[in-house]
Amino acid sequence: MSHLPEVKEHYGILKNYIEGKWVDSASDKTEAVINPATGKEIARVPMSTRKEVDDAVAAAKEAWWSWRETPPVTRARMMFAVKELLEQHFEEIARIMVQENGKTIDEARGETRRAIENVEVASGITTLQMGYSLEDGAGSGIDEEAIRQPLGVFACIAPFNFPAMIPFWFWPYAVACGNTYVIKPSRQVPCTMQYILELIDRVGFPPGVINLINGSHDVADALMEHPDIKGISFVGSTPVARHVYKTCAQYGKRVQAQGGAKNCLVVMSDAVLPQAVSNMLSSCFGCAGQRCLAGSNLLIMEDIYDEFKERFIARAKNIKVGYGLDESVNMGPVISAKARAKILDYIEKAISEGGRLLLDGRDIKVEGYPDGFFIGPTVFENVTPDMTIAKEEVFGPVVSLMKISSLDEAIDIIHSSPFGNAASIYTQSGKIAREFKYRVQAGNIGINLGIAAPMAYFPFAGYKDSFFGDLHGQGMDAINFFTDRKVVITRWI
Ligand code: NAD
Repeated sequence: MSHLPEVKEHYGILKNYIEGKWVDSASDKTEAVINPATGKEIARVPMSTRKEVDDAVAAAKEAWWSWRETPPVTRARMMFAVKELLEQHFEEIARIMVQENGKTIDEARGETRRAIENVEVASGITTLQMGYSLEDGAGSGIDEEAIRQPLGVFACIAPFNFPAMIPFWFWPYAVACGNTYVIKPSRQVPCTMQYILELIDRVGFPPGVINLINGSHDVADALMEHPDIKGISFVGSTPVARHVYKTCAQYGKRVQAQGGAKNCLVVMSDAVLPQAVSNMLSSCFGCAGQRCLAGSNLLIMEDIYDEFKERFIARAKNIKVGYGLDESVNMGPVISAKARAKILDYIEKAISEGGRLLLDGRDIKVEGYPDGFFIGPTVFENVTPDMTIAKEEVFGPVVSLMKISSLDEAIDIIHSSPFGNAASIYTQSGKIAREFKYRVQAGNIGINLGIAAPMAYFPFAGYKDSFFGDLHGQGMDAINFFTDRKVVITRWI
């Protein structure tokens, strides 16, 4: 690409967006937003107060009724305008995301595309929000209908790993359905949504329909406890997801809380290894392993183990680690110094518990970026399912190879985990693939595919400790989460 937009060196102190206006936080507490590749501060994010949460919710509540009365076709047209602006500024969004999250520019472009796809799906609200009716449904001459009505103010609490996409699993559907909204980004990556809200501000939504509030867990708690919020969408780690689920239940709210993961990729004897290995590398090391769908435990049939290992290590060694704005880089840093230290601890622990390092990314040096939070691809073998590295979510570029002797053994290992986010199998056998799909207790299943990320018109599922709730983000699940079905029975005779 010949002309690329410049990214700023520093975005200043970020603001909140309340009632259609950009406002400085009243809080004097700010935190640094750090570029994980350079280790340098790129913005300061305010730790907003409960009073500011109240202001945002009050604005959203005030805006609700007239927004709810705005015809769905008008709401849909505003979604078209959102899409148009996101397309026009696609590259800026992706580049800001690289700066604050560390992912590569191609990963950031992919994420921006995924965000836009949710706007596209929500633009179909005139069809999606239709109810249904049955003449004489309640007896002769008595008709019955179910209508989908919006409920009021909703909010989302987002994680650091997809700064743009994850709020888009929720807000476009909520707003298209006629609700109003408050977004709380992760304080580690608040610049992307700040920029996106600057674009959305130009669309002309009535003030208060969409609001943005920066901050930490205090803001998240204030949203969950707020009497005027009808429901919360959360994505993050399992302990926090559990807390969100409990708190929302306590405060009588709808809730969908997506948690952490520990995903297995299973390689059967008949897998086409060159393709499987390429695909698995991007699952394991894409976004530096910081995806909830990332492959982490690789369960390999023993008769092909040696060949698989050789191919996998040869390719993993060639992954180019660096600053994601460089188009030639394949993998960026992890999010923070703290995350890096935690991942290094996991590696130490795996060694002390008997794991054998086949590839050690601990001492990687990236030229020009001595202060970045880099870890190179790291691969263990001699890992057993009871070891810490096999059980806990590492959320970094670290994977474990394990030998298996049957599909049953693989499924037992998958089911021994408390998580159930995703699982994949590589095979040429339809019978084995079907059995895997049928039996495995995970929300997202890949067959010859290591990142089974549902498109916007499908729900983003999750089982066990990876999801608390029943209706998921995206697609019709989102429409059902953001509306209530009211039944009307009518007799005119
Ligand atoms: P996190 O749980 O630390 O934070 C997520 C959000 O919750 C942030 O906005 C944060 O401010 C808020 N928060 C943190 N602690 C809180 C508390 N005690 N009370 C209230 N709010 C609190 O998660 P993270 O580190 O930002 O994201 C990584 C995690 O997200 C990983 O576990 C990953 O697997 C998970 N994730 C899951 C999915 C999924 O679809 N299941 C998708 C993406 C990420």
